[in-house]
Amino acid sequence: MRLACVFAHPDDETFASGGTLAKLAAAKVRIDLFCATDGDAGKNSGIPVSSRIELAARRRAELAAAAQILGIASLSTPGHGDGMLRDVDPDRLVGEIVFFLRRHRPDIVLTFGPEGAPTQHRDHRAISRAATAAYFLAALPTEYADQMREVRPHQASRLYYCAWEPPTPGSELMTLSLTATCCVDVGAFLETKRAAFLAHATQRQHEARFEELGMRPTELFALAAGAPQPRFVTDDLFDGL
Ligand SMILES: [Zn+2]
Repeated sequence: MRLACVFAHPDDETFASGGTLAKLAAAKVRIDLFCATDGDAGKNSGIPVSSRIELAARRRAELAAAAQILGIASLSTPGHGDGMLRDVDPDRLVGEIVFFLRRHRPDIVLTFGPEGAPTQHRDHRAISRAATAAYFLAALPTEYADQMREVRPHQASRLYYCAWEPPTPGSELMTLSLTATCCVDVGAFLETKRAAFLAHATQRQHEARFEELGMRPTELFALAAGAPQPRFVTDDLFDGL
């Protein structure tokens, strides 16, 4: 079985789904990650960084370390500008993800929901839209036909969006997600998830938010398209495939 993740920034994979990725990798699921930017507009948590280029290189290395901890098999990092995804030609961004899906041929595609995760970051919203389009277009031989010299069309079985519990009154972030249809018990993998977060050393300043939102014993996902689940709520993204 294969899972492809499509996210915007280094650390998105860990925040949103790190426990699930570690659990699936331990179960011999192959995981490939497309990370659209190098996070070069992000904060650096006091680590001296002289330029956006240096921050990008550092965050790319952090992502590689986190990926190794989580068991991610490969990284695709086109290096788009952090904060600028919605300014990238959509045809180009979707085409890159179509190529990524056709090359790795996942059973499941995982990305952010259209709301852009709890922060509603504009890059998260842009990558959700691009990944959703790519999920459908990757199957059509008439789309991005020039790619056929290297890859073949591919229809993944399911598209899932990241989800979370409704925020409690007074929470800092009040964004609602789609209703979760898959609740993955990641209790045994929380320390692996924390280790992956700590590998993103430039993001330490988000540690309080990570501890609050990222260290819950269950990670939630919402089925967006593809093969129906055998039950309305499952505990495994691959259930019934
Ligand atoms: Zn992000």
